[in-house]
Amino acid sequence: MKNILITGSTSGIGKEIAEVLSKKNNVFLTGRRELNKANFYSCDLSNVQDVEKLYQKACEYFETDVDILINCAGQYIYKPIDEMSFEEIENLININFKSAYLLSKLVIPSMKKNNWGRIINIGSISGVVGEANASLYSATKSAFFGFSKALALELAQNNITINTINPGWVDTPLADNSLNEDEKQEIIEIVPQKRFISPNEIAKLCEFLISN
Ligand code: NAD
Repeated sequence: MKNILITGSTSGIGKEIAEVLSKKNNVFLTGRRELNKANFYSCDLSNVQDVEKLYQKACEYFETDVDILINCAGQYIYKPIDEMSFEEIENLININFKSAYLLSKLVIPSMKKNNWGRIINIGSISGVVGEANASLYSATKSAFFGFSKALALELAQNNITINTINPGWVDTPLADNSLNEDEKQEIIEIVPQKRFISPNEIAKLCEFLISN
């Protein structure tokens, strides 16, 4: 039984990851909304103090270290670059990438000490192939490439693995709020399976990636 901190676990992909992994592990959840649960802390990951507090709260709940970190929290902005405000730019970088980097920095010392650890980042196909009108979203997701590859090399000797999953469109509230029915049909036409990915398929991949 491992101790797993999962960001973005109040909705969509993160919520499903938490449901699947909680069957055999202790999970600590977080998101923007309020939940009245002992294993939950509501926070804003665009804020550095909240990131540190989240890590402390998780360790307090586990009464020990975090063995597995899953960076799933994220927001999607579909807008041409010239329409993005400086504030939106800073927020998206902080939520989608900087919080994941900071949390990784915080969990790694104990993972090294325990000679075991797993970090999984939820990237996106937009970070792999690029997406017009989502240049910052794509950039925050492709940041996981360099980060995961470099850190995996750095920590391989410590039995710590770092992976990034890059899904296409997944059936979640984020997709629902970003696309109208016509856009969904257009996307489905170009997806080989002719459907959106289910959050459960991502959760099952996480289950494999955290195994020995
Ligand atoms: P969602 O909107 O259903 O859930 C997002 C989660 O992130 C929620 O728990 C929310 O509370 C949390 N979150 C958002 N902003 C936050 C903030 N400032 N501070 C703390 N928590 C915050 O989205 P989803 O579809 O489940 O997406 C999860 C991840 O998967 C995101 O990183 C997203 O970019 C990525 N992704 C989604 C899709 C898709 O099609 N849905 C495709 C590829 C990648």
